[in-house]
Amino acid sequence: MVYFEKSQPAPPSLLLEKNKKSGTYRTAEVIARLDKDFYSKCYICGQKNPTTINIEHFMPHRGDRDLMFDWNNLFYACGHCNNVKLAQKEFDEILNCTLKSDQVDRAIAYQFNPFPKEKPHFEVLIPSQKATHAKELLDRVFNGEPTSLKALEGANLRDLLLKSIKEFQELLIDYYKYGKDATFLLKIKQHLNNSIEFTAFKRYIIRHNETLKNEFEHYIID
Ligand SMILES: [Zn+2]
Repeated sequence: MVYFEKSQPAPPSLLLEKNKKSGTYRTAEVIARLDKDFYSKCYICGQKNPTTINIEHFMPHRGDRDLMFDWNNLFYACGHCNNVKLAQKEFDEILNCTLKSDQVDRAIAYQFNPFPKEKPHFEVLIPSQKATHAKELLDRVFNGEPTSLKALEGANLRDLLLKSIKEFQELLIDYYKYGKDATFLLKIKQHLNNSIEFTAFKRYIIRHNETLKNEFEHYIID
C-alpha cells in the first residue's frame, strides 16, 4: 500500500444521491474521480487496471447512509481484495492509505524474491494494531488459504507481481550498465511514484539496499 491523496471537495453528485430515497454512490462522477485519485490501482494489492473494480467502503457501512455516501470512505479496490477484506471483521481496522500519517509504505515490509513460485512476505515495521491487521490482510490477499479459490486468485496476483518486479529489476540493472542513463532514471522514478503497479514493493527494495537508497530514495514522493 502507498499513500493516495483523495481530491476534495466530494463530487457534488454524491450529496444529491444521498438525499434521494434510492440514491447510489456509484455515480459516473464518483467512479471517474476514484479512478484518477487512485491511479487506476487497487489500494490494497497495488494491481493496476484490475478486471473487476469495486468501490469499497473503507469502513463497512452496514446500512449507515452517512458512511455509505461519505466521500472519504470510498476507496478503489479490486474485486479480490474487496472480498478478502469483507470476510473478516478485524480488517475493518487497517492502516488508511489516504492518511499520510499512517505511513502505509513504511509501516510494513513488502518483501518479494522475484522468482517463480515465491510468495511475498510481510512484516510490521511500525507497530500498531492497524498495521498488524493490514499485514494480515496483505498476507491473505497474496498468499491466501491453501485449496481455496482465493488462493488461486492470489497465485495470479503473484504472477503479475513477479512480472512487474522483474521489469523494475531490469531497469535498475540497465541504469547502471548504461552509465546512469536518464531514460532509465525516468522510468525508475515512475515505478516509485504511483503511476505504475505494486509501488510499495519497489519502494521497499530501494529503501533496504544502501546503494539504491542513496541513489533513488529522494525520488520517492508521497
Ligand atoms: Zn487488489
